[in-house]
Amino acid sequence: MAARDAAGRNHRGDRALAALRGWLDTAAVADAGDAGADDDRIDWLRALPFIGMHLACLAVFAVGVSAAALWVALALYALRMFAITGFYHRYFSHRTFRASRPVQFAFALLGAASVQRGPLWWAAHHRHHHVHADTARDPHTPRKGFWRSHVGWFLTRGGFRTDTSRIGDLLKFPELRWLDRWDTAVPVALAAALYVAGEALARWAPSLRTNGPQLLVWGFFVSTVALFHATVTINSLAHRWGRRRFQTRDDSRNNLWLALLTFGEGWHNNHHHFPGSARQGFRWWEIDITWYGLRALQALRIVHDLKPVPAAVLARARGGR
Ligand SMILES: [Zn+2]
Ligand SMILES: [Zn+2]
Repeated sequence: MAARDAAGRNHRGDRALAALRGWLDTAAVADAGDAGADDDRIDWLRALPFIGMHLACLAVFAVGVSAAALWVALALYALRMFAITGFYHRYFSHRTFRASRPVQFAFALLGAASVQRGPLWWAAHHRHHHVHADTARDPHTPRKGFWRSHVGWFLTRGGFRTDTSRIGDLLKFPELRWLDRWDTAVPVALAAALYVAGEALARWAPSLRTNGPQLLVWGFFVSTVALFHATVTINSLAHRWGRRRFQTRDDSRNNLWLALLTFGEGWHNNHHHFPGSARQGFRWWEIDITWYGLRALQALRIVHDLKPVPAAVLARARGGR
């Protein structure tokens, strides 16, 4: 009996240790091939840092606010949203334009600073979504409930893993594999840099009335949590609210408000109809900030070969709503 108790304690201890290691080193999490029966269960221990990020936002009441802190939060939201939509989504997941290896890595770093894990994890899950959208095999279809599609899906054991069979084209880059394995490294560096910058400003530019803790809370925690919830509205709300121009096999919708919030991703029905284009707003009035940003990067010769929307698809879009 005592032996069995001890074995049970050891087992729980091992699991806790694996969860703690998984916070830092995603290689501690088994490969997708090892799917288990409890894959759909939320792994609360591994989810603690995610919950902690939300609680840390409450520190705004302790650190106060300043114009400088708000601008930093806004700028980091915009920059990282562009990296997620332009690169994690339109580049790594869909390969809708080309970029050199250093440019690819620079934007992968910016994307990784969003605390949405590495580009390989993101692309593998997103490609899976396009293949199985709104079926039982889609982990974040709102048919499984709002909260599951918004946050629950990626806190499950299955959600933490990366199905490498979907990302053979990206695995050949060791720098991307490194980012995926140590996916907390970049966010931790950003948080530390914000703290140091805030302390430097407090010392050398006291008129800005900011400091390390304030820039950390606004620039990292508040900005990242807002960025996260805006991004995942595309899983939860853009498959529920809005218009369906194209009769796709899934429930995707076009929604102006979500498009503004996510720099163009809200034209999600367009995107499910034709995922191979770097552009998601198909009409001139369908505001797609990511597309404008990518066009600017192409004009500067930083990226190239942006794939347009084919004329036949545009003609169909004009005929629809
Ligand atoms: Zn979708
Ligand atoms: Zn997509």
